[in-house]
Amino acid sequence: MNLSFNLADEADTLALGKALAAQIQPPLVIHLHGDLGAGKTTLTRGLIQSLGHTGAVKSPTYALVEPYELNGMQVYHFDLYRLNDPEELEFMGIRDYFSDTTLALVEWPSKGEGLLPEADLTIELAYQGEGRLATLTGISAAGLHLLAQLQS
Ligand code: ADP
Ligand code: MG
Repeated sequence: MNLSFNLADEADTLALGKALAAQIQPPLVIHLHGDLGAGKTTLTRGLIQSLGHTGAVKSPTYALVEPYELNGMQVYHFDLYRLNDPEELEFMGIRDYFSDTTLALVEWPSKGEGLLPEADLTIELAYQGEGRLATLTGISAAGLHLLAQLQS
């Protein structure tokens, strides 16, 4: 199942993050696809701040992952843009990040292919005129359930 949203500006992207936040039930893995500047981090910021984080949300480009503890959830924001070899995920103990209370948001998941858990939900962000088009695809039962909730 697919759900698309036209996002005219940054506020729309943040609002989609907020709408997603309201439906999150861990464990959940969200893969974020799209070119540089497409809005992956902006969407993640909307989501994480809606879960109660009051500080900044920046792309964890050098650390690969930024952890948050929100509402009894472990929220991990990965950005694998600078990952040279998926094996590096092995060295950082990637498996230990995923539990029943984990929400993982992953930018550039293709760089971690093979070692990264499969997505429950994928979000593709694409440039569309001055704005963006977000396409959400449910993969697992949990991802499909989330999309159905988002739609209703
Ligand atoms: P990414 O993480 O995909 O590289 P960022 O979220 O860091 O992208 O940057 C996206 C840029 O586009 C930011 O400057 C943000 O203000 C802007 N932006 C976010 N959403 C929209 C939108 N729907 N329309 C236009 N600009 C947007
Ligand atoms: Mg980013």
